[in-house]
Amino acid sequence: MVNNNSDLATTTGSNMSVEYDYDVVIIGGGPAGSTVARYVAQSGVSVIVVDSRESIGSPLQCGELVPTNDEMRRLCPNVPDMDDLFKTPESAISKRTEIMKIITPSGKSLEFDFEGLVLNRVAHDEALVELAKQAGAEYKVGCFVNKIEGNSVFIRNGEEIRAKVIVGAGGHNDPVRRAFWKEKSTNIPVKFSLKEGDYGDAVELHFGSMAPGGYAWMFPKSSGANIGLGIQKNFSKGKSLNIIAKDFIDKYDGTSTFNGAGSLPMSGTIKKFVKGNYVLVGDSAGMVLPSNGAGITIAMIGGRIAGQVIVQHIKNDMNLSEYEKIWKKQMGRVMLNSKRSFKIGSIMFRLPDWMLNLFFNRLTKAIIWRAVTCRRMFWII
Ligand SMILES: Cc1cc2nc3c(=O)[nH]c(=O)nc-3n(C[C@H](O)[C@H](O)[C@H](O)COP(=O)(O)OP(=O)(O)OC[C@H]3O[C@@H](n4cnc5c(N)ncnc54)[C@H](O)[C@@H]3O)c2cc1C
Repeated sequence: MVNNNSDLATTTGSNMSVEYDYDVVIIGGGPAGSTVARYVAQSGVSVIVVDSRESIGSPLQCGELVPTNDEMRRLCPNVPDMDDLFKTPESAISKRTEIMKIITPSGKSLEFDFEGLVLNRVAHDEALVELAKQAGAEYKVGCFVNKIEGNSVFIRNGEEIRAKVIVGAGGHNDPVRRAFWKEKSTNIPVKFSLKEGDYGDAVELHFGSMAPGGYAWMFPKSSGANIGLGIQKNFSKGKSLNIIAKDFIDKYDGTSTFNGAGSLPMSGTIKKFVKGNYVLVGDSAGMVLPSNGAGITIAMIGGRIAGQVIVQHIKNDMNLSEYEKIWKKQMGRVMLNSKRSFKIGSIMFRLPDWMLNLFFNRLTKAIIWRAVTCRRMFWII
């Protein structure tokens, strides 16, 4: 049992005393887990993050685009104090962008104002770990969690950590989610490449048969670009993701310097984030906006709420399910709109390319943008 926390957290019942190593153990130190850790630790509650990676954030698994804080205020108007939550250091920003192009199968481009940051994602995640450590969180890396029982988290090397609250922030394959939740999410496979070259200043999203049931992207960086796509397998008519991704990525000149892959939960949030003393956050709770694949900032919004509620739970016995209520107030509408847009999009993306080319036009431009940015598509639904 890990015992390096000097003041063992103790809960005293009427005739029993239970000892814990920490108040909170978090599985996974990505954007979700490290944000929970920061908000928990800065309130003086003891917390440890356990991550299977030796270096959190590496290897890169990301398209690396996030909205700026100002854009986030417009996209998620019910989320307070964005500047406290998103403290992206300059070293984690590769390029600033002001234009997003939505591109049809025929290559026609619709342009939108969009203030975004193309990140150095590895540096971004390392900075989140640093913020949490500065607030007092402990980290244990290179430790794969393979079992959770009661208040105990078991690491593959045989260690056990006991905590009052266990947070599952292990991404789409989180062990807490797998062990205690039956609800399934649709995970879409994603492939991407970092390429050398000059790709201009606008970020691009492509829709159509080049990314069946999903979308493809080209996000320019200070040098080169991050280019990739995600698909729904049942839309791809037997064609493999490898071939579909290669076809798209090869359209851009330039040598690939890194190839990556991953999986994105695309069903939106699951019904419950809390069961007893188990709390899910980030991808493990489905906190990705399905209509645009945004997961980093959304995981951090969830992480802050979870962290704040956990602190109140430990200090004042607040019910952990307050986390779900506050999430709904801040993000419920945005998530609902995004799920609806994705469902409508999934029907549309079964259409042949020539029909999509017709649909994406100046008259539908505003509707398309509302769908991508998680607003009501038709003002009434
Ligand atoms: C290819 C790709 C491109 C993407 N592009 C974008 C984008 O451009 N913009 C955007 O906003 N989002 C993007 N996303 C989504 C975004 O990366 C995720 O939504 C975000 O990382 C979620 O954060 P998280 O902390 O929940 O999970 P993660 O970032 O996945 O972190 C989970 C952590 O848990 C650890 N872990 C997992 N299991 C265990 C275990 N059993 N024991 C110990 N540790 C464990 C992992 O090592 C990892 O460090 C993309 C995702 C993929 C796959």
